[in-house]
Amino acid sequence: MTMGAEDVTTIETAVRVETKRSPLPPRERLEQVFDIRDLDAIYGSKPAVKGVTMEIYKNLVTAIIGPSGCGKSTFIRCLNRMNDLIPGFRQTGTLRYHGQDIGGSDIDPVAVRRTIGMVFQRPNPFPKSIYDNVAWGLKVLRMKDSLDERVERALTQAALWDEVKDRLKASGLSLSGGQQQRLCIARAIAVEPDVVLMDEPASALDPIATQAIEQLMHDLKDEYSFVIVTHNMQQAARVADMTAFFSISTGGEGARWGELVEYDDTTKIFTAPSDKRTEDYVTGRFG
Ligand code: ADP
Repeated sequence: MTMGAEDVTTIETAVRVETKRSPLPPRERLEQVFDIRDLDAIYGSKPAVKGVTMEIYKNLVTAIIGPSGCGKSTFIRCLNRMNDLIPGFRQTGTLRYHGQDIGGSDIDPVAVRRTIGMVFQRPNPFPKSIYDNVAWGLKVLRMKDSLDERVERALTQAALWDEVKDRLKASGLSLSGGQQQRLCIARAIAVEPDVVLMDEPASALDPIATQAIEQLMHDLKDEYSFVIVTHNMQQAARVADMTAFFSISTGGEGARWGELVEYDDTTKIFTAPSDKRTEDYVTGRFG
């Protein structure tokens, strides 16, 4: 059955998909940011995810959903080589970023993280002033010209400027949880990354702060590409243009690993998924 974007649900889904979303252009008209082929992510000898093949597109919000332990965080951390910091971790397969293979050992992970920034579950401002939190990356990268303007711009983009403009010298730690997370987003975008990865960015926040984070992703996606891990299906349905559903597969001797089950327009994933496992998950029958 074909569906118009204005249709809300066809299956008994627990999730309401935004009705006003405009349909995505055809895939071939979207610009690829990541081209991921057969990616395995392995801790020691234990694979956390296996065989992930997907493309992630520019200026979209892409959500990764799935049950706890299916490798969502591991996967998103592969995208900017953040797992390299974990002893015994390795990833195999191909990870291309704008056509360049960034999965190999010859790539400088620090340079990768300069253009592919990350925001974590718990807000983690530095014990420094609000201004210095945002200016920190700019100073490290010697982007020191027009520092004040860059700090203001990042705080404005993160929808925090009006709340902090009169107390830029106050500690970042004096802010509320939601403000701290927006400060971390300001810190991430100040260095003008291309992609912002967000690992459960709102799970420690109240609903109003959550809404602010979702709104700013929506407002900023013309400038950045976002990849967000969320256990909150409503959130994926609200913010994401495309959604990838990961699930846990099992093998002999208790082996378990995560794999990508289905990846499509968010509307399709939540209203007319192709795979029974996705349907079971989005209808709340599993997970
Ligand atoms: P999710 O984000 O979907 O909950 P994770 O990526 O956190 O899943 O975890 C996937 C699997 O990888 C789990 O079995 C978890 O125990 C394992 N894992 C995660 N982080 C580490 C780590 N630092 N060292 C070893 N195993 C890990």
